[in-house]
Amino acid sequence: MKSQEVRKQFLEFFKSKNHSIVASAPMVLKDDPTLMFTNAGMVPFKEYFLGNATPKNNRLADTQKCLRVSGKHNDLEEVGKDTYHHTMFEMLGNWSFGDYFKEEAIAWAWEFLTEVVKVDKDSIYVSIFEGDESEGLKRDQEAYNIWTKHIDESRIINGNKKDNFWEMGAQGPCGPCSEIHVDIRSAEEKAAVDGKSLVNMDHPLVIEIWNLVFMQYNRLANGSLTKLPNQHVDTGMGFERLCMVLQGVQSNYDTDVFTPLMREVETITSSKCGETEETDIAVRVIADHVRAVSFSIADGQLPSNTGAGYVIRRILRRAIRYGFTFLDTKEPFIYKLVSTLVNQMGDAFPELEAQKNLITNVIREEEASFLRTLDKGLILLDNVIANTKGDTVSGDKAFELYDTYGFPIDLTALILSEKNLKLDEAGFDAALKEQKDRSRAATKVETDDWNILQEDAEEEFVGYDTLEASVKITRYRKT
Ligand code: ATP
Ligand code: MG
Ligand code: MG
Ligand code: MG
Repeated sequence: MKSQEVRKQFLEFFKSKNHSIVASAPMVLKDDPTLMFTNAGMVPFKEYFLGNATPKNNRLADTQKCLRVSGKHNDLEEVGKDTYHHTMFEMLGNWSFGDYFKEEAIAWAWEFLTEVVKVDKDSIYVSIFEGDESEGLKRDQEAYNIWTKHIDESRIINGNKKDNFWEMGAQGPCGPCSEIHVDIRSAEEKAAVDGKSLVNMDHPLVIEIWNLVFMQYNRLANGSLTKLPNQHVDTGMGFERLCMVLQGVQSNYDTDVFTPLMREVETITSSKCGETEETDIAVRVIADHVRAVSFSIADGQLPSNTGAGYVIRRILRRAIRYGFTFLDTKEPFIYKLVSTLVNQMGDAFPELEAQKNLITNVIREEEASFLRTLDKGLILLDNVIANTKGDTVSGDKAFELYDTYGFPIDLTALILSEKNLKLDEAGFDAALKEQKDRSRAATKVETDDWNILQEDAEEEFVGYDTLEASVKITRYRKT
């Protein structure tokens, strides 16, 4: 089933259950002090859960553009290394605002998966919340009992607070949840383990696809839980992961959501996936990150030196760096992927089509200037190497390159290792820690995303924007 069809089937199914279909809200948030980006489908509906606003229909369904690169949900370091965490992804969701609760949420999830898109029942596991004494939260026996009507008890697993109590961020609506996992290992892989389909939710190919959250609480700024005025259902299903399951592949990047981008990266960079692990990771990182950056720009958030714009700039630079280091790309090329992306997703998200030229131009400019920085950094590093006695480059020098000139430390390490030189990592870490302590001591603001900003501010100052970045730092240190 093609991805376009998967999206359509989901929305039509919930329409048949009297849900109104709504468009995705923006991915970049402009006026929420607790959150920089929409990190889950529930974010646009927060006020409905809290009882501060009332929806037109108390049943909604949608696909929401999400970005998980900061705050409580930050998957950035996984992206590209595994094959199922993205920076930007679509979350399919159905919502009940004080209307139906666990019984229907579970029955419909089961019906959609096993009868509409026909996932093999014998590959499904579900989890329920085991409770948490420290907060006086009980085991979700109700969800367990409902599940036993659909699935064998041996396939219902207990989950702890980390996995089965869903929270948006440090504050906000939350509640126990029940997750649906699908075992996508091949018959041979299963047989190689133990001859039968082993219950092993931690296996990377026993993939979590859908989370049914039973919203009942609000986490306050002081950390305590209060009951919400009503009980709600918030479900979130990873669209790309569902496509992976339905298309019979073992990587999101092998679904038709990603293959056009993957092939285009290979063509432009004359590289081939499957040859080395580094190439595979780099191609995946680039295919992933171009989506995050393009959707952000389409939402009106350009790369910049502060706030959300700085996070976006860092994502793009991460992609540039992977290309530069592992695919040998010394000229801008990521901007060329925008057409492919627009062809692929412009129908479902018209804002992409509308902003195509802006997205292309902004990415090309960003690439050109960061590549200049990398070039400059290479010359400086050569100098450092020429002046190094012995086989170890000092941590202070590496830190200076990183801090003052924005030259990424992992790139320094890589270049040194290629020249059979060592990096004084302990020295670098000490210099970094000293700087972090200085800026942390000056930081009093405590929301998640703002803290990330502090780390961002320390992480990467680059060439042409060095001046602005240091202005920014000064300002933060004064707060
Ligand atoms: P995981 O444990 O795999 O990190 P999660 O428990 O953090 O996922 P939820 O917050 O429950 O995810 O989000 C609901 C669904 O969204 C998940 O079941 C998954 O299918 C999907 N999802 C979550 N994070 C990502 C991501 N970074 N990229 C793609 N899909 C994701
Ligand atoms: Mg996660
Ligand atoms: Mg999980
Ligand atoms: Mg989950």
